[in-house]
Amino acid sequence: MVGNDSVTGFLDRNGCLQLVVKLAAWAKSTGKPLAALWVDLDRFRQINESFGHLGGDQVILQMAERIRDRVHGRAELSRMGGDEFVCIAPGLNRHQVDELAHEIQRVIELPLHLGEMQLHPTASIGIAILENGEDPFAFIERTDRAMMEAKRQGGNRIVFSGDEPIPGRLGILLAREELAIENKLHTALESGGLRLHYQPILRADGSIEAIEALMRCAADDEEIPPARFIPVAEKTGLVIRLGEWSLLQGASHARRLQLAGLRCKVAINVSRAQLVDPKFSQALHGALICANVSPDLIELELTESLFMDISDDVQNNLRNARACGVGLAIDDFGTGYSCLANLKDIPATKLKLDRAFVKMLPQDQRALSVVRAMIQLGRELGMTVIAEGVETREQLETLWDAGVDAVQGYYHARPMDEEALQAWLAAREVP
Ligand code: C2E
Ligand code: CA
Ligand code: CA
Repeated sequence: MVGNDSVTGFLDRNGCLQLVVKLAAWAKSTGKPLAALWVDLDRFRQINESFGHLGGDQVILQMAERIRDRVHGRAELSRMGGDEFVCIAPGLNRHQVDELAHEIQRVIELPLHLGEMQLHPTASIGIAILENGEDPFAFIERTDRAMMEAKRQGGNRIVFSGDEPIPGRLGILLAREELAIENKLHTALESGGLRLHYQPILRADGSIEAIEALMRCAADDEEIPPARFIPVAEKTGLVIRLGEWSLLQGASHARRLQLAGLRCKVAINVSRAQLVDPKFSQALHGALICANVSPDLIELELTESLFMDISDDVQNNLRNARACGVGLAIDDFGTGYSCLANLKDIPATKLKLDRAFVKMLPQDQRALSVVRAMIQLGRELGMTVIAEGVETREQLETLWDAGVDAVQGYYHARPMDEEALQAWLAAREVP
């Protein structure tokens, strides 16, 4: 092991393990994922030998600062000793942690000046996601092993624990299932197996605030729920194509409603992968033009986790959408990690309180307090506040009392196909 002891200011190995134990308990109680990345600089011994420990320290410090700045707000960085770092990332799923690892790789690769020399460092990164009931130390060990595997394969690469050459049986089963879903998604895209269902969002006077478009996928006579196919689509990048499809379909539906005499917003779900793509604005404009629909009839629903880290591309896409009149709603609010400091910079017009809170009403007084506080927050920021997942009359009344602007849920209507929606609209007495 090398010296390099003058690099301080980061959690050390013990601090890291304590944090993992704490967050593993948090992951267990909330059901949220917990990811760890083990980052090890490649060829660091050479740097130490060529530039001495002082030079080595400089490299470690710069790398540590680059990584820390990059993961800020999403993960906690610890130094495990030598040139090894661990990032603990609560709440990140496989796709998000993969993205984070690539971001870390990119900041590490930026040129580094050491005396007259310009270095281009690289790193090996191992990733693990805490398994149900897994011992926190075994979890960190798996992360380390994944990093060692990245080194064994020649360094400068990212390896997921479980993707090593001999994966556990569970790994194989999951990979197979995902592959099957991916195939079904392709089939659905090509054979018209994708559809949108629509669920109305209603104000207290019974008028319609918006209609949310929810994707449905059927292939080989089997219906796959979005909770299963959206994560696979996100992982494989297919979600970009699915997203373009739903933008166009949703926008066309808004136009048909308008032609039928109902000026009503259609809310379309957009995933993180779409929004980080610089071409998203083009896709959105394309859909608006093809559907010949006024942009103020379209709203994009963005999950809260998106706002943990708003890149320039995301900011531009959001600003472009707002500039042309498209509405933005923050979805599943209260469940993710939205940094409240970020919230004030997001040009959103709506806040959708997650179903998890509504489920606890009206019995749970503390949940009600949180709901009231979130409504107040939305108000202060000038947003319309919506409650999701309203199933009972008691929940509805509690929410109206608490001051929400509109509600969505099975109590009023389940998501339905376009024909059923038309019948539902026709059967209503109110505007
Ligand atoms: P979400 O955006 O939070 O959508 C609301 C989900 O809650 C829908 O599930 C809806 O059917 C369900 N829901 C509505 N009212 C109630 C209720 O009263 N009780 C209960 N228990 N559930 C209710 P769904 O359709 O299965 O969609 C699940 C998730 O999949 C969505 O959550 C959204 O995150 C994602 N999703 C759906 N369509 C798309 C899409 O076109 N693009 C993207 N990126 N994601 C989508
Ligand atoms: Ca939504
Ligand atoms: Ca939601």
